[in-house]
Amino acid sequence: MGKLKLAIQKKGRLSEKSIELINECDISFPSGNGRLTSKAYDFPIEILFLRDDDIPGYIEDGVADIGIVGENVLVESAKKVDVITQLGFSRCRLSIAIPRGETYRSVKDLDGKSIATSYPRLLSKYLEENHIQAQIHEISGSVEIAPNIGLADAICDIVSTGSTLLSNGLKEVEEIFNSQAVLISYPHLSNEKREILDKLMFRLTSVRKAKKTKYILLNAPNESLDKIISLLPGINSPTVQSLAKEGWSSVHSVINEHDFWEKIEQIKAAGAEGILIMPIEKLIY
Ligand code: ATP
Ligand code: MG
Repeated sequence: MGKLKLAIQKKGRLSEKSIELINECDISFPSGNGRLTSKAYDFPIEILFLRDDDIPGYIEDGVADIGIVGENVLVESAKKVDVITQLGFSRCRLSIAIPRGETYRSVKDLDGKSIATSYPRLLSKYLEENHIQAQIHEISGSVEIAPNIGLADAICDIVSTGSTLLSNGLKEVEEIFNSQAVLISYPHLSNEKREILDKLMFRLTSVRKAKKTKYILLNAPNESLDKIISLLPGINSPTVQSLAKEGWSSVHSVINEHDFWEKIEQIKAAGAEGILIMPIEKLIY
């Protein structure tokens, strides 16, 4: 049987989370020792370890079948690939920054300036949309020192906390693009590879659903059961069992992370006691 080739970053800010994601799907593979490829032990997948910039191109050409890369790199590359899903990690933004001492009122202040960046395509799109004429200096790294050495008036670079900007005497003035890691694929996968991808996505979806959901167990007086059941519909409906104590029941259900605290307050107010919350490893429905 063929293997699905998955490209991930060899070393950097996407690597650890990419590996974690694969492992959470109960797929393990030998790693380390500067390997360039690795075959999973228990799933028809082969991992390719690459520079993140090379991933979109490898996928467009079909050298790798699927890959994990930042949206910033993907959009900048302009390669033709399918985006399967956003992955919610390695979040960052692409911003324009200028020397801290300079005044800045609006994007018009960038007119006629020179801006150093590793993202010429994303930057020129932004400048065009805002009708700004600025000179773009494409450089491949250490963009943040450009204003200090007189190479450019401003920079456009990835920011997550802003500490690099601060230590180089710069301030963020415009946010032009928001990014997170995405799973991408070669648009013309064979049926056999698509089947493997579907299996992988099934695992990934169950893990992600589980992360957003908790298992909840509580005791409640029977007269509050209707109210509590309406607050905890679960997947189909909660399990209710009688307690040894007369007039009381135990309720088992699942609860969503996003309105968790709000629901807990209402459940308590309805008379629930001994509320127990537990993590769920996988959730399939
Ligand atoms: P490579 O050697 O593979 O080319 P790199 O130096 O280009 O690596 P990294 O710094 O490892 O890239 O960043 C990889 C990706 O992680 C970025 O393209 C971006 O999507 C995301 N990223 C960048 N900075 C951060 C950050 N501070 N926090 C979270 N994610 C980030
Ligand atoms: Mg890179």
